[in-house]
Amino acid sequence: MVDLKGQYEKIKEQVDRSVLDVISSAAYINGPEVHAFQQELESYLDVKHVIPCANGTDALQIAMMGLGLQPGDEVITADFTFAATVEVIALLGLTPVLVDVDPVSFNIDVEAVKKAITPKTKAIVPVHLFGLSAPMDALMALAEEHDLYVIEDNAQAIGGTYTSEDGTKKKTGTIGHVGSTSFFPSKNLGCYGDGGAIFTNDDELAHTIRGIVNHGMYVRYHHDVVGVNSRLDSIQATILRAKLPQLDSYNASRRNAARKYTEAFQGIENIITPTGYCEAPLGICDVCDCHVFHQYTLRLINTDRDALVNHLNEQGIPCGVYYPIPLHLQKAYADERYKEADFAVTNQLVKEVISLPMHTELNDEQIDYITKAVITFVTA
Ligand SMILES: *Cc1c(COP(=O)(O)O)cnc(C)c1O
Repeated sequence: MVDLKGQYEKIKEQVDRSVLDVISSAAYINGPEVHAFQQELESYLDVKHVIPCANGTDALQIAMMGLGLQPGDEVITADFTFAATVEVIALLGLTPVLVDVDPVSFNIDVEAVKKAITPKTKAIVPVHLFGLSAPMDALMALAEEHDLYVIEDNAQAIGGTYTSEDGTKKKTGTIGHVGSTSFFPSKNLGCYGDGGAIFTNDDELAHTIRGIVNHGMYVRYHHDVVGVNSRLDSIQATILRAKLPQLDSYNASRRNAARKYTEAFQGIENIITPTGYCEAPLGICDVCDCHVFHQYTLRLINTDRDALVNHLNEQGIPCGVYYPIPLHLQKAYADERYKEADFAVTNQLVKEVISLPMHTELNDEQIDYITKAVITFVTA
């Protein structure tokens, strides 16, 4: 699904040298590399504060802690996402409220969010799923109207851009009150272990969060709030510093691969290809960066998706099903309040979706081999 080794080979010299430098510096935790990466990411994202932490799940949890959400508060998020999003809501004793998604963008459905708002609702967590921004204008307007926080789960869309109706462009993760991301190796900006970060333009919130990631300490050995221990290692930070300048070209490579896939699937019945929001040819944008293709995910109509998965695996083609089970049907998150009719889209998507190999090192030959195998099966 990914080719991290091929990507590493191209930056090996720089990465190896800087990792060795960190080792000989002995500044393993909160060293100058972490600080430098933080500043470079702030400038890349055009956001006032980046707070590095240990992983993307922690980042979400810490964002919610920083906002002071309390047990019993309701937090609305998408039924069709990775479990980490809902997990941290539940862990903090908050009440997760799962809602359906849009069948085209796979992102949280604004109408469903509207219907789910109650007097107890405190926050909305849009996930920029598969690399495509959630509809932030509508979500921010709704949040303002109901006095809610917006926490963007940007684990799959770092480097992506959202263009507002008025033409303003912002990096995903920097639009809501707070955003989070993951540097898990297979993410668009991945390190060689675990890592994550929180983004905000709010000075006070950034200060609160900086204490939370460090055991609730603002002054050494004075613990003002209950915190956690969540740090980005200096070794991971130095690797991320080597990769950040490549992020735009990494995302462009992903988009090029996506374009080739979509070109190959043009006119094939029963295959629905993924698209961004802009009117670019094939729905794949080169201008506004609305989709950074963390995953390239097809919908298959009238097709036995699981049989296709087997068919591809037999030909040595990896593929993934993200996600096979809606969160509202997972044992840990099931709730009597949920009605199946409210999850019609997610219930359908879990049967139809398949994600093809997507990374920065895909070549034409591989894409040709993969698309032919898919088309042969679907048109048989
Ligand atoms: C990867 C991911 C996370 C969690 O990131 P980790 O670094 O693995 O903890 C959270 N949300 C989404 C949508 C993700 O894809």
